[in-house]
Amino acid sequence: MTARPPTPPLFPMFADLRDRDVLVVGGGTVARRKVAALLDSGARVTVGAPALEPELARWARKGRITHRSGRFEPHWLDRVWLAIAATDEASTNEAVAAAGEARRVWVNVVDEAALSTFQVPARIERGPLQLAISSGGAAPMLARALRERLERQLDPSLGSLAEFLSLHRRRIRARFAHMGARRRFFDQVLSGPLPDLLRRGRLDEATHTLEQALAGGDTGTRGSVVLVGAGPGDPGLLTLRALRVLNEADVILHDRLVGAGVLALARRDAELVEVGKQAGNHHATQDQIHALMLEHARAGRRVVRLKGGDPFVFGRGGEELQFLRGYGIDYEVVPGITAALACAAYAGIPLTHRDHAQSVRLLTAHCSGSRDALDWKALAADRQTLAIYMGVAGLEDFSARLIAHGRAPSTPVAIIENGSLPQQRVIATTLASAANAARTHAVESPALLIIGEVAALAGQLHWFGVPPRVGPAPSADIPRAA
Ligand code: SAH
Repeated sequence: MTARPPTPPLFPMFADLRDRDVLVVGGGTVARRKVAALLDSGARVTVGAPALEPELARWARKGRITHRSGRFEPHWLDRVWLAIAATDEASTNEAVAAAGEARRVWVNVVDEAALSTFQVPARIERGPLQLAISSGGAAPMLARALRERLERQLDPSLGSLAEFLSLHRRRIRARFAHMGARRRFFDQVLSGPLPDLLRRGRLDEATHTLEQALAGGDTGTRGSVVLVGAGPGDPGLLTLRALRVLNEADVILHDRLVGAGVLALARRDAELVEVGKQAGNHHATQDQIHALMLEHARAGRRVVRLKGGDPFVFGRGGEELQFLRGYGIDYEVVPGITAALACAAYAGIPLTHRDHAQSVRLLTAHCSGSRDALDWKALAADRQTLAIYMGVAGLEDFSARLIAHGRAPSTPVAIIENGSLPQQRVIATTLASAANAARTHAVESPALLIIGEVAALAGQLHWFGVPPRVGPAPSADIPRAA
């Protein structure tokens, strides 16, 4: 057998193994993984080994594979197209490689590039579409890392796209006989709305778009807006979908709250526009945001409207969609991890707990007008957790009203500032002392309040950043309801 020099690149190929005989030598878990992949490709698999691990044994009993029991003999290769050696004995693996060389049967010895005449690439599957990655045995870990990165970036709906195109392949070829025309057609279709429609499960509209394109019509480069939740700040809390969308964006309209760590993940040449709102100036800027979304989408751009947390939790996402709908602009929503969930998790506070709280409410009360509209009796009830957004400014009044409506002054409260970020602070206090604690510790925005017995668990369950600070004792005059 010859160990080949590493210099010339491997020749990539995709083999059609349907109903072809393949031999796997070895009966352990590595062999089992290889057998599973071969069976997926439709191969007729024989496993040669003195004994089989349980799953392989089950497949043999069911007739999915053939078991050839005993130690490897060269004539096992006589009728096969390919062989994989997956034993933990170097001498057996070498014998398989040598016998393969003599018989011109392609052999892969698992993790032994030098002994192999073919290698199995790292791969990514999206339906009929496969990406295979090889480093020619030079750096398998690099190939694997690249696979992971691409796996995250490539949307699962690519599979539906490939299937969809395969379904219409004949007609497309018939309509555009020339390669150049066909390529232009595909360029147009793939950069248009069709892939998005398939991702959103709109098969009828996708088919209609294709029909239009086949009829020679313009499918248009329609712009669209994706409303994306960026989570609380830690980029690790973005969803995979959010990451993909950030990678495809032409323009990103983001709130001030969205941190640099998240923005760094956006496509390099996407245009970043901060559309932060100043307190007291909401209407003017909200209108400007609407106008910007409309202008960019109408120009055919892929717009990402990126918001802190979740776009539908105190994020005015609903209003923005209503506006877009009014103008017939296509949109999509990607949820994000809202501050209440993230802050609770990163402070070690379970929002519900069998012993303490059966429900949780997300609320905001940043101006006294909105506080008057709340049902205070219900909010003051026991055995529930309140997660309050934008609540630090109104904390004095808020806690006084809860106490006046019957919630115990000793009810635990956690104030979480910059939740999930490296500079996170958690202040553990009580309802009676909360406003004083916020002042003493000079709590700044963004901060979230968690009120309820579960808040006390932060002292025990914290795991991120510095341990909770315990707020000052209640001031002598417990706040009274206004
Ligand atoms: N849509 C966002 C909320 C926007 S309102 C979401 O779902 O999280 C802004 C308020 O959210 C802030 O005033 C603060 O109360 C809270 N908030 C957002 N990010 C936060 C963070 N990292 N830490 C603490 N509170 C946060």
